[in-house]
Amino acid sequence: MNKPDPQVETLVDLNAIAHNVRILAEHAGDAAVMVVVKADGYNHGAAEVARAALDAGARELGVTTVGEALQLRAAGITAPILCWLNNSDADFVSAVEADIEIATPSVAHLRAVAAAAREAGKTAIVSLKVDTGLNRNGVSPTEYTAVLELLKELVAAGTVRFRAVFSHLAHADQPHHPTIDTQRDRFLDYIATAKEYGLEPELVHLANSAATLTRPDLAFDMVRPGIAVYGLSPIPEISDFGLRPAMTFRARVALVKHVAAGEGVSYGHEWIAERETVVALIPAGYADGVPRTLGGKFEVWVGGERRPNVGRVCMDQLLVDLGDNASGVREGDTAVLFGGAAGEPHAQDWADILGTIHYEVVCAPRGRVVRRHLGGDR
Ligand SMILES: *Cc1c(COP(=O)(O)O)cnc(C)c1O
Repeated sequence: MNKPDPQVETLVDLNAIAHNVRILAEHAGDAAVMVVVKADGYNHGAAEVARAALDAGARELGVTTVGEALQLRAAGITAPILCWLNNSDADFVSAVEADIEIATPSVAHLRAVAAAAREAGKTAIVSLKVDTGLNRNGVSPTEYTAVLELLKELVAAGTVRFRAVFSHLAHADQPHHPTIDTQRDRFLDYIATAKEYGLEPELVHLANSAATLTRPDLAFDMVRPGIAVYGLSPIPEISDFGLRPAMTFRARVALVKHVAAGEGVSYGHEWIAERETVVALIPAGYADGVPRTLGGKFEVWVGGERRPNVGRVCMDQLLVDLGDNASGVREGDTAVLFGGAAGEPHAQDWADILGTIHYEVVCAPRGRVVRRHLGGDR
């Protein structure tokens, strides 16, 4: 007997990932593609996404922490991996041993990586993440020369291999924003200063998804797309760029029942049936990543159409009004919360209602939600 589908799941289409990587590679021209798989591949499964992306032509992988990078190595992935946000007491020894490239944003971090290289008895691969105006992570202009002086010593001693200089944009989703050119100019200055210290990076990179798709002049040697790999447009108001959303968040209807006119539905009876109706119980709630603040404001794709959520979203469940249920929705039918197929609600719809961005929406499914992968041909 076939196992039934999970009650609530995210279905991740690896063929969509491959398709999106090819679109990004086209925009990147001669530049290599580093696919960003931080936060478990934006909640799509880092190792599965990484393999599909590498098969589709991506060259490198980017993550946030040493821990994330080590998980990819443990999954058997041998491609270059860069991690860029760690405390200085992170497990850099394991990172060096596993050939993981470490971005250092300060003298303290660089010292810690050098100590790890000595302990591991192996050269560390280091990149400089430089702050060109985001004023978040990255070497600040005031500390840059101190970092370069130390790096020069470490390279001369063979403790460190100097791989790259890279930076991150603040306004890439507004392709004509003047700060983009300011950040580019500062980036070029950082690179020139490194060269004055005799430090020649093997490559330099700046572009995230938005810049990859709209600013080919900023591709440099490599681009670093994240969200677009998952099929969500970094600039939804301009274009979808032909990307295909990879994640479908769906659940199976747990119960279909009549509600009499005048009856209230779900906690607090915030919705009262004006006439006799049929509702579908969807076994997904805020513990599964359906924000409670969506209650009464969003639609679910079920029975071949969009039907409105009614009443509060609870911890484990929510309700959808089927009206007279002309399409004959039954227990066990699939209800799509958001996905990518024609007609289905899109992560962007949730983002619009919630006043957030689709990045946060796809990171939400959790807890009981089972993740499954389709395609990828492996
Ligand atoms: C997350 C991240 C990216 C990818 O950004 P997207 O907007 O998802 O393309 C690239 N570079 C750095 C440093 C990041 O933190």
